Amino acid sequence: MQVRFEDVTLKFGDRTVLDRINFTLPSSELISFLGPSGSGKSTTLYLISGLLDATEGKIYFDDKEVTNLDPVKRGVGLVFQNYALYPHLTVLENIMFPLKMAKVSKKERRRIATEMAELTKIGDQLDKYPRQLSGGQQQRVAISRALAKSPSILLMDEPLSNLDARLRIEMREEIRRIQKETGVTTVFVTHDQEEALSIADHVMVLDDGEIQQMTDPVTLYEDPKNLFIAKFIGSPI
Ligand code: ADP
Ligand code: MG
Repeated sequence: MQVRFEDVTLKFGDRTVLDRINFTLPSSELISFLGPSGSGKSTTLYLISGLLDATEGKIYFDDKEVTNLDPVKRGVGLVFQNYALYPHLTVLENIMFPLKMAKVSKKERRRIATEMAELTKIGDQLDKYPRQLSGGQQQRVAISRALAKSPSILLMDEPLSNLDARLRIEMREEIRRIQKETGVTTVFVTHDQEEALSIADHVMVLDDGEIQQMTDPVTLYEDPKNLFIAKFIGSPI
């Protein structure tokens, strides 16, 4: 699914966080939102999901306008930094949960959840509880759960920020693999330039609520549009 923002403005009270932003996220790609803390990455992600409503402007998924649809109707999958798993449910039950809410039959729930767990390589931990898993394993469960309902878009907000350096690199490669295998349009938010450049098909650089540049990682590194990007990326200038 392609995502398109047309002149989207977001205000919190009288504070304008995003001022008439426009962009298109290509279908079936992994796109990274990159920028320093407070640059508007999460806000933009919440606007795509419908967790926040645009103050002005329009949002489209392919040709369908979704500006006023709630997150369930938009059908997005969400993955957060803190995993947000249900502690009292097993791995299998966690992954099945959104399907249960959608009234999918028990047999079908189990089939889909098992398939998702195989995809994310957590299929041998189905009866464990979240507290018995490592951070990387918990994030695999969260990704499985987000994919269970075949989301229109997969949205990940700093999904690797709680992991140590070694696991971060391992999970980065896993997310890249899972995205390729499913082909789901994925937004990966990070403040880590190396992470963004290594994982994404396209990187959208944000600063202070403005889109500075959106291009592929090689172009971003070799041909940054301005000094802010060059410094932030660490380009050789
Ligand atoms: P990032 O995810 O890039 O760190 P955010 O999207 O969370 O940035 O925040 C962008 C800006 O919006 C920041 O200046 C932040 O202080 C402001 N902001 C975020 N949420 C709220 C809110 N609920 N009320 C007021 N301002 C907010
Ligand atoms: Mg954020």
